[in-house]
Amino acid sequence: MSKRGMLIVLSGPSGVGKGTIRKAIFEQDDNKFHYSISMTTRKKRPGEVNGKDYYFVSKDEFENEIAAGDMLEYARYVDNYYGTPLKYVNKMLDSGKDVFLEIEVKGAMQVRKKCADGLFIFLTPPDLMELRHRIIERGTDDLATIDKRMKRAVGEIEMMQNYDYAVVNDEIPAAVEKIKTIIRAERWRVKRFLPDYKKQLGDVLK
Ligand code: 5GP
Repeated sequence: MSKRGMLIVLSGPSGVGKGTIRKAIFEQDDNKFHYSISMTTRKKRPGEVNGKDYYFVSKDEFENEIAAGDMLEYARYVDNYYGTPLKYVNKMLDSGKDVFLEIEVKGAMQVRKKCADGLFIFLTPPDLMELRHRIIERGTDDLATIDKRMKRAVGEIEMMQNYDYAVVNDEIPAAVEKIKTIIRAERWRVKRFLPDYKKQLGDVLK
């Protein structure tokens, strides 16, 4: 049986640029992670593709998935559901592949409880004005939604203490490099490395 893959969770407040960073990581040629496409009930934005950016579903469909126990985690976020389908994640991890989630903080905390050996990275903004600016610049939300997202973001930054690593998103290439460095180092953490190494040595270690 192959070694179980690593579950990598990138999280952080709304508007911090998680999606941009995730896309930049996945555009790189040396990328070997498997992105878990989320399911959502929010409306498709211009340019988004069903089955690539998200699985866009109705509220009823989403609630059926929850009831069937088919979600690894889910959260209600600004009046919509967002969640990670469980099957894909398990299939990939079981076949030794590393899975990458990009999710908001409530969902990340659910994953932390279920998958204690996951790697939890918190992407954080350089400052709050910058965050507001990014949310407004995206131009997809009305003012009331922007305010809701900002309020929530402040509370979310306090969640950083529950993560393994924090990365400030000031420059995209620098943040991407930091995240890749963290993941590379994490593979050599003794608790991840030792079980296989023991096997390799022929079980001479206790
Ligand atoms: P957006 O509507 O801007 O695409 O996403 C809103 C928020 O939902 C972002 O913070 C994004 O990271 C988060 N999100 C996307 N997919 C998931 C998911 O599967 N689960 C959870 N909990 N959050 C998600």
